[in-house]
Amino acid sequence: MAKTIIFLGPPGAGKGTQAQRLAQEKGFIQISTGDILREAVKNGTELGKKAKEYMDAGKLVPDDLIISIIKEKLQELEGKDIILDGFPRTIPQAEALDKMLPELNRKVDAVILFEVPDELVIERLSGRRIDPKTGKVYHVKYNPPPSDVEVIQRDDDKEEVIRKRLEVYHQQTTPLIEYYKKQNKLHVIDASKSPDEVYKEILSVIE
Ligand code: ADP
Ligand code: AMP
Repeated sequence: MAKTIIFLGPPGAGKGTQAQRLAQEKGFIQISTGDILREAVKNGTELGKKAKEYMDAGKLVPDDLIISIIKEKLQELEGKDIILDGFPRTIPQAEALDKMLPELNRKVDAVILFEVPDELVIERLSGRRIDPKTGKVYHVKYNPPPSDVEVIQRDDDKEEVIRKRLEVYHQQTTPLIEYYKKQNKLHVIDASKSPDEVYKEILSVIE
């Protein structure tokens, strides 16, 4: 059965960074609902128009929209090893996922919780920069972009929005910790360590 791994944790915990590395080195496919939504906003699609105001405010996009995006993606990626990066983020999303996976010949193999204190999240998100051409993630201090790469800052990586996103995480997403603990699927990792150390911890869980 193809592997299905969930990355859970606050914004800025390093989920995308690690998912990109696993994709490159281990052939996983990264499914980032945030990336899918930003692409839709950029292209001005119906989905993008519906999602934009929530994203700009640091709020979650409604569950039904996100669930249908994921369903479509999973149908496209039958038989591939995947990392769900940023999904599920609410209990209804997790329940919908549990319902759709068996039909797609999958189950959740492991949920990796990236633990990192709020102060570090704020520092990581305020220094985050993206290469808009490749989507690669950098940080002004911890992983500065090469001088020939022109990077941008995400609209929602501003101090006020960062605080709102953290609040939303604590209120709406942390109940998933208990949800997956009950299913015996939760693996907690210390995401405040260096990217290499975090990567090693993840490998020890999924291999
Ligand atoms: P998420 O996908 O969880 O929102 P990112 O992977 O985009 O988080 O990481 C947020 C920021 O922190 C980025 O600027 C990234 O370069 C940086 N970062 C990621 N992991 C680490 C780490 N282990 N140590 C220091 N900085 C990190
Ligand atoms: P991210 O790139 O994961 O930080 O997500 C950026 C924004 O996209 C979030 O602040 C939400 O507005 C929206 N988003 C991404 N994934 C989800 C999800 N699973 N459920 C609801 N909203 C989401």
